[in-house]
Formats: sequence, C-alpha cells, structure tokens
Amino acid sequence: MIVVLRKEATAEEIKAVIERLHEFGFRTHVSEGVEKTIIGAIGEKTADKIQRLEMTPGVEKIVPILQPYKLAGREFKATGSTVAVGPVVFGGKKVPVIAGPCAVESEEQMLTIAKAVAKSGAAMLRGGAYKPRTSPYSFQGLEKAGLEILAEAKRVTGLPVVTEVVNPGDVEQVAAVADMFQIGARNMQNYALLRAVGLSSKPVMLKRGLSATITEWLMAAEYILSSGNNDVVLCERGIRTYETETRNTLDLSAVPVIHEISHLPVIVDPSHGTGKWRLVLPMSKAAVAAGADGLMVEVHHKPEEAMSDGPQSLRPENFHEMMEQIAAVAAAVGREI
Ligand code: PEP
Ligand code: MN
Repeated sequence: MIVVLRKEATAEEIKAVIERLHEFGFRTHVSEGVEKTIIGAIGEKTADKIQRLEMTPGVEKIVPILQPYKLAGREFKATGSTVAVGPVVFGGKKVPVIAGPCAVESEEQMLTIAKAVAKSGAAMLRGGAYKPRTSPYSFQGLEKAGLEILAEAKRVTGLPVVTEVVNPGDVEQVAAVADMFQIGARNMQNYALLRAVGLSSKPVMLKRGLSATITEWLMAAEYILSSGNNDVVLCERGIRTYETETRNTLDLSAVPVIHEISHLPVIVDPSHGTGKWRLVLPMSKAAVAAGADGLMVEVHHKPEEAMSDGPQSLRPENFHEMMEQIAAVAAAVGREI
C-alpha cells in the first residue's frame, strides 16, 4: 500500500508514521516529492492496522498498490533506483558496457578478450562458466575452472565480473568470484534460484525469459526483491516471435515501458537479442537512444572458433568501433558511456 502524507506533515510526524509502519511489520520506502511525501509499504495488512495508520497524525490517506509487482513498481518507489557493482553504477547518468565472450573457454581466450575490451572502455567483464545450453550435447561450460579463469581476468583488468549461476547450490561458489550474478533467460522463472540469489547480498542481473511478458519478468524480479536483495538490474535480451531472420526479436520498447512502470535499471543485450554480430552495433545505438541503463555485448577474438555464440560475437575491433559510436549517441541523449 501507499501511505500518502499531508502536505503540511512535519518531519517528526513523518518519522513517527515510518516507525509505526515498521512496528506493524511493514517494509517501507520513502519518496519525497516536491509537494508531498509518500511511503511505499509492503507487509501484511489488517483492517485494524489500516485504521490506526489512517488516524496517525500527518497521514492523508492510504491507497492500495494496484500493480501485481509490489516492490519492483514505481508505485512503491517513485524515483529510479541505482545499482552499484563495485565502482560501476547502473541507473545513473553513465551507461556501463559489459563485454566478454559467451563462454569462458580457456585462460588464453578469456584474458585476450578481457584485455581488449578493457582497453576499449568496457566497464565490466562477462563470461559464462556454467552454460545452460538448449542442447545437452552442446558445450556446457568449464564450471569451477571457468570461475578461476574469470577471477584471473578480473585481477588482470581490475574490472568487475558478471557470470551466470544456474543452480541454487552453486550460488556460494559463484559469489566467491562474481561481482554480479546473471540469471539467464531460461532460468527467469526458476523460483528456487531467484530466492537463492535474493538471499545473497550481491547484485543480480535478471534476463528476460524467452517468452516472458514484461509483467512476468517483473514478477520474477519480485522474487529476488522480496527475498531481501534490492540490487536487481533487468536485461532485455530478445523474445521469441514468428520472425526467423533474427535469433530473437529485440524488444527495445521494453526499455521505456520498464522505466515507466518500474524503478529498476534496465540494460540491453543486443547479442542474444539478434543473434547476428552485424546487428549488434545498430541495436546498441538504438538501445542507448531508447534510454537503456547499460549494454551487455559478446566479444570474441576468434568468433569462427568460438565454442558458443560465435555468429553474434563482435571482434575486438568491431567492439572498439561500437564503443566510439555509442558514446556519440549517449551524449545526444544526455548520458555518458
Ligand atoms: C548469456 O548471456 O550467455 C546467455 C546464455 O543469455 P540468455 O540467458 O539471454 O540466453
Ligand atoms: Mn551467449
């Protein structure tokens, strides 16, 4: 529910209302507007609690949150959230770019790519150690050895790392290396996994499910938020449509829609979103122009030899060009790379 305070409510009254909400077992978020302060409150409502709150000095009215996603919605929190991954901030003026291979294949491969993308201005590294592949016969990732290589890439470049976790039982092991968890599209509705990362204190990048509506995606975010982890970054990575020219249909309209209905930052993955490296540059520019709070791009120094997703991977020189071009788009829309 939303507790709307009177225009003339004093600071002491507001403090007392918040204390009462906490006493009643609500989780709160205060949004201070120019005119009025509103408090988003999540918890178990009873007629008695509502009546007592309505009578508390400073309270104007109590309105229910109508959206099914309570914590992820703008009704609960009117201002956009920022999520920090070490020095990298999603949801601010900067548009951080995450880059790296689809999968960690070897130390030589990961370090070559990591150094190249760092040089071109990537803010974070990516690389899958656990790969949830469509086919059980495809390369499944180097697992623990892959995590160790990621740790080395992080040490060499100084950049934070995001990597996918596919099993609730692996959360602790992945957290030892990752600065941010990635929940892949195929696991967007793996509720045990969402709860497991929700109990962790590390930020989570939640990719949109292959056929998920925006509401389903936000409800998945709600599992993480309601488990206690506020640091969720959404990632649009394309959805399944009847179109076959591209691997997925990159739904860029999701970016302004999310900004309208949710306070969570949203980034775009044009690599999985299109499946074709030639489309990554134009769609990256379009994503930044649409207001994306970051990008995630696959880069490989030898895409023709990549063990996964070679056709959608940029070569380091193409990535460099992309970084130059998106910087110009970002400046045009009041952002920075
Ligand atoms: C990935 O980013 O490596 C990945 C597997 O993406 P998605 O879950 O979006 O398919
Ligand atoms: Mn991939």
